[in-house]
Amino acid sequence: MELTLGWLYPTLMSTYGDRGNVICLQQRGYWRELDIKVVRLDLNATVTDFDNIDLFVGGGAQDRQQEIVMRDLQGSKAQIMRNKIEAGTPGVFTCGSPQLLGHYYEPAYGQRIEGLGIFDMVSRHPGNESNRCIGNIAFRLTASPLVQMIQARIGGSPIVIGFENHGGRTYLGNVQPLGRVIVGNGNNQEDGYEGAFYGNAIATYAHGPLLPKNPFLADWLIETALELKYQQNIQLSPLDDDLAEKARKAMFKRLEVGKLAQAATSNE
Ligand code: GLN
Repeated sequence: MELTLGWLYPTLMSTYGDRGNVICLQQRGYWRELDIKVVRLDLNATVTDFDNIDLFVGGGAQDRQQEIVMRDLQGSKAQIMRNKIEAGTPGVFTCGSPQLLGHYYEPAYGQRIEGLGIFDMVSRHPGNESNRCIGNIAFRLTASPLVQMIQARIGGSPIVIGFENHGGRTYLGNVQPLGRVIVGNGNNQEDGYEGAFYGNAIATYAHGPLLPKNPFLADWLIETALELKYQQNIQLSPLDDDLAEKARKAMFKRLEVGKLAQAATSNE
């Protein structure tokens, strides 16, 4: 079996190490003898390149690069992305890229950047004199049916860990949050939400990179892409994630996630 992974504008949107998500997906596919081919959807990418994608990965970027990306992600390319996400093509979009998949992103300086309107959300940067949201983040996955599928895989209530570095704040309309913040800032430091989930597309502020820190999300993305492409139920063989689990436990301890998660649940 094989998949074509579309990496959104890697030359412009790789500022915060999200290439690790591409590497993680490829490697976890390789360990299962899956061929995951990466197509770099840069400025010279064709409409056909976009049309052949089974799984999207989008990383983070500074405001200036986001503006350049949106000059290119217009017309047929934009429509194909919308159509594919609506048809259930999975994707993981981190920080700067999901800001462009909402209705708009108002950067710290310059004009509003109109987005693709895939996620019913808007993002606004309050200006460079405001604090940036920087630091470790831990959040409880809440988006349905993602959380049920992950619980079936790993049991328990999945907690996602990562690292955030953004100035923009995101406000959700009629779209599910990806999760609820336990430690960190999340979408806007106000409503306690982190990210968004629509179709099979994950929007999140969690760099890290996200997928090596939360391998269950990587496997869900691969399985979902394979099921859509081959129209059959897919159960990936389990991998030895002991190292990742040890790293997660170390972060849970450092961030006191256990205690805070309990407190957050009792306050809900
Ligand atoms: N430039 C955007 C912001 O500051 C996105 C940053 C990012 O991708 N980490 O919010």
